[in-house]
Amino acid sequence: LLEGVDIRKSFGKGAGRHEVLHGCTIRVHEGECVAVIGGSGSGKSTLTRILLGLETPDSGVVRFDGEPIATPEGMRRLRHASGIVYQNPFASLDPRWTAYESVSEPLRLRRKGRRIGDEDELVARVGDALRLMALDPSDFLGRYPIDMSGGQAQRVAIARAIVTGPRLLLADEAMSAIDVAARLQILDAFAAVRANDPRMGMLLVSHDLGVVQSIADTIVVLHDGVVVEEGSAAAVLADPQAPYTRALVAAAT
Ligand code: ATP
Ligand code: MG
Repeated sequence: LLEGVDIRKSFGKGAGRHEVLHGCTIRVHEGECVAVIGGSGSGKSTLTRILLGLETPDSGVVRFDGEPIATPEGMRRLRHASGIVYQNPFASLDPRWTAYESVSEPLRLRRKGRRIGDEDELVARVGDALRLMALDPSDFLGRYPIDMSGGQAQRVAIARAIVTGPRLLLADEAMSAIDVAARLQILDAFAAVRANDPRMGMLLVSHDLGVVQSIADTIVVLHDGVVVEEGSAAAVLADPQAPYTRALVAAAT
């Protein structure tokens, strides 16, 4: 579905120039949940931004459905087919908009020039997305972000990301700004998204192996800009190969 092959990226100029991704390869297949794990500064967000086409790699290629996203057509396809969840839910929700306005906006944008249906259908689809997030639409449709907890706001943000039925969902530290109890609800919300659409590919970025190990099919460990480990979650957890991963697994269990 999405692949980044041999991605390299440097920041800075002259003597201050340093490479933060040293040739990373990562793949997300249809229906697969990939967790990218790594410490602060390991390059997770940079890699995610490159996979989304928000940043250009120095070398390497990102393909969506086999089409390089460096082409306008590839970029258009990726934009159309992906949803994004950010670390801070209050940064992805406009404080002036109700949950209904925030979650229905991607549908409205898509409706332009096409038949997605009338207002009743929008209400129904927003309601479905909120219910999937275990939020009661009658309670939340009219609510503003200021009247939501962090966990509730993040679930509204996820509803917004999935309401158009994307084929790919990317989440960068979607659980980090949320307290531990609400974190489990966010994890459940991602699990519900997968159950609702088993073909959706998911890329969850986290510094915490413990948080994502239950939902990930595949774990990719990034350490100082290098993929030091990649494998099925079961295999990585049971028998980590890289010393860095061994330390992570030991700390998470
Ligand atoms: P965190 O867990 O703290 O979110 P991360 O794994 O997401 O960390 P990145 O944000 O990708 O790490 O950063 C990797 C490295 O690249 C860091 O050393 C960071 O300072 C550097 N970096 C990222 N973006 C830029 C930029 N726009 N300009 C210069 N340096 C950058
Ligand atoms: Mg980051």
